[in-house]
Amino acid sequence: MTQSNLPFTQTRWSLDDLYPAPDSPELEGAFQRIEAEVAAFEALRPKLTLEISTPEFLDMIHQLESISREANRLNAYAGLWFAEDTQNQAAQTLVARVDQFVAEVSNRVLFFELWWKALDEARAARLMESSGDYRYWLEEMRHFKPHTLSEPEEKIINLKNVTGFNALNTLYDSVTNRYTFKLEVDGQVREMTRGELMVYVRHHDPEVRARAYRELYRVYGADAPILGQIYQTIVRDWRNEQVGLRKYASPIAARNLSNDIPDEVVDTLLEVCQRNAGVFQRYFRLKARWLKAPRLRRYDIYAPVAKSDKTYTFPQAVEMVFDSFASFEPRLAQLARRVFETNHLDSEVRKGKRGGAFCATVTPELVPWVLTSYQGRAEDVATLAHELGHAIHSQLAAEHTLFTQHASLPLAETASTFGEMMLVDKLLKEESDEGVRRDLLFRQVDDNYATILRQAYFALFERQAHEMVAKNASVDELCAAYLENLKAQFGDAVEVSDEFRYEWVSIPHIYGTPFYVYAYSFGQLLVLALYQQYKAEGEEFKPRYIQLLAAGGSDAPVRILARAGIDVRDPAFWQGGFDVLNGLVDQLEALPA
Ligand SMILES: [Zn+2]
Repeated sequence: MTQSNLPFTQTRWSLDDLYPAPDSPELEGAFQRIEAEVAAFEALRPKLTLEISTPEFLDMIHQLESISREANRLNAYAGLWFAEDTQNQAAQTLVARVDQFVAEVSNRVLFFELWWKALDEARAARLMESSGDYRYWLEEMRHFKPHTLSEPEEKIINLKNVTGFNALNTLYDSVTNRYTFKLEVDGQVREMTRGELMVYVRHHDPEVRARAYRELYRVYGADAPILGQIYQTIVRDWRNEQVGLRKYASPIAARNLSNDIPDEVVDTLLEVCQRNAGVFQRYFRLKARWLKAPRLRRYDIYAPVAKSDKTYTFPQAVEMVFDSFASFEPRLAQLARRVFETNHLDSEVRKGKRGGAFCATVTPELVPWVLTSYQGRAEDVATLAHELGHAIHSQLAAEHTLFTQHASLPLAETASTFGEMMLVDKLLKEESDEGVRRDLLFRQVDDNYATILRQAYFALFERQAHEMVAKNASVDELCAAYLENLKAQFGDAVEVSDEFRYEWVSIPHIYGTPFYVYAYSFGQLLVLALYQQYKAEGEEFKPRYIQLLAAGGSDAPVRILARAGIDVRDPAFWQGGFDVLNGLVDQLEALPA
């Protein structure tokens, strides 16, 4: 894999595979083509009768897919062009135009989905039987049928959500987004946003870290009565609608269905997380020793442990990533390489370019686009492996339809995280510099803590809070329960000061998307457990893993995993993920201090 005929230089991507230019007749024509196709689709509406034949039904799905394909291309072009330069007003305008257009188109074709959801079981089963790869997409739409109310009721909920649930969330955002924080840095008091403040929780000076957190919760704490009240109201609204009207078994069950994960699987996942809180407690004790502190304070959990400043050139990074993919399976490296060959990678550091990194899959026929701003640190190499992992996943699933290619939320991070782990493993194996190795390991465990245990404990708190609010708990009682939750999470390994009782009112996810957070734990732990199997089984594991990725979003996550020999109902599977983490902490303990 060292032989490569590509010039691995950092470049801007090309969007030519979508449209030749923003003002090209091809792009303008796309609006007209979609318009014509939607009109034709609307004309088919009378065919949606109880007697519709299978070929007619499939024909309508194909037309809908064709509309969606062109709409995806338009959306992608606008979004990617804007990501290249967020200051580009023409790109901004195109994004707004496409958004509006696509929303209108979606409304005009909505009748198909409504009809499909309303259809009786027997007729739906007959049509699904001969729908090939569209089957799961069709099946999933109908999941919500038992929880769907009559049309007038649904309309009332929609209307009242605008001024209820949604308005409360907008209010929460408006209140919290205008917060400013004051922090003394280098003898100077500066006013900053939350994002700017949070940089200092990773500061090398323990006093600065403590001050940053105290300031964060001084501000949120001052508004806790009102933010807590907003939360209580959201939680009541959620229960009234999901449990009261829609008859879900519990508040969390509504989210589980939209993730298509059985309730008992989520219960098992959260139980195993609770049982394994000790691995991170062991890690925090170890971190305290590295920081030469008697005990870690909650302020210190993201404290840096002597950063190394080793960098990698871009060609080195690319070769390392390709090599680690190829050592697993040459085809993976080939698929990653296609992102470079098609010039779909934007890796330059440029002013105005969107921050962070992402991989955008547009249609099964097109190689995905990847954005990252490569700066040479080990974590930039890992990010490159992560995003190319996404691109590999999409391409392996490219045999599927537009509607079934994309893995659903619980599986969406599989190839990316797995790719990142392979790379880090390779770096650890080849790196002789203890400082660099230590850095990599600490970063791995820090990230895993934030993604797995922290999110699982948020979900546990949500579950408890939804029950408490139903029994009329006050904001103070919720604060006390949250502090208990933190104490269970950290044991005696971390000293949690009192102001952290206000942390929960600062977590937008638990307001805007109740119970969303456990999906992070699910995805990350799943990959660790898969990685454990790979280590144990070697070659034998590979075809099952490739098959899992190639399934894309063509079936329920639990069924896709079952076909790969994985039983997510079994606590032992999840335990495998924690075994990997125990191994990482063992490696850290073995390093000379
Ligand atoms: Zn990702």
